[in-house]
Amino acid sequence: MRDTLHVLSHPLAASFLTDIRNQDASRAVVRHRIRALALMLFYEATRDLPQQNVNVTTPLTETGGTRVGGTVGLVPILRAGLGMVDGILEVIPDARVFHLGVFRDEKTLEPVEYYSKLTKHSPVDRAFILDPMLATGGSACAAASRLKKWGVQQIKYLGLFGAPEGIQKLSEAHPDVEIHLCAVDSHLNERGYIVPGMGDAGDRQFSGE
Ligand code: URA
Repeated sequence: MRDTLHVLSHPLAASFLTDIRNQDASRAVVRHRIRALALMLFYEATRDLPQQNVNVTTPLTETGGTRVGGTVGLVPILRAGLGMVDGILEVIPDARVFHLGVFRDEKTLEPVEYYSKLTKHSPVDRAFILDPMLATGGSACAAASRLKKWGVQQIKYLGLFGAPEGIQKLSEAHPDVEIHLCAVDSHLNERGYIVPGMGDAGDRQFSGE
């Protein structure tokens, strides 16, 4: 296993993933589980957040405490990454959110960017790319390149399912980008879907039957 790859190991995470894989899971269940897993991944991926010492006065006395430092950006890849945003915002409500629209050309499987609101202002200190499926790795690589061009110093990728092909592509193109996943699956099929995976992560959350 590559040392930039971290796979979440927790009984609740495993159970939630099983729920998501189930083709009969309702949209409400899929949404809930994705939101919860994103938050678990975020906790793991932020163990190295810088801390600043502060003083705080309790009802009894003054004591020392800490606050996290630096600016954080969440970068959901449209549309499947949207479902990973809200859970994370509960613990870091002032994070900036930069939506990035990348779709996969069905023939070439290459990423095509169609929407970006990366700001002209100074870059955030650290950015988290959010996309449930690390499939071919094309969108993740494109997002990481975009963020580096903007000047972001630390970039991490948070996803639910990874295919070996996508993990290899992202870690070779961006060896400095840590990858946090809930599961490494078997392979991609001929249409670029992760097997066993969860099917189309956008449809399962937003528009499927
Ligand atoms: N995108 C999806 O939504 N699912 C996959 O399996 C791969 C890419």
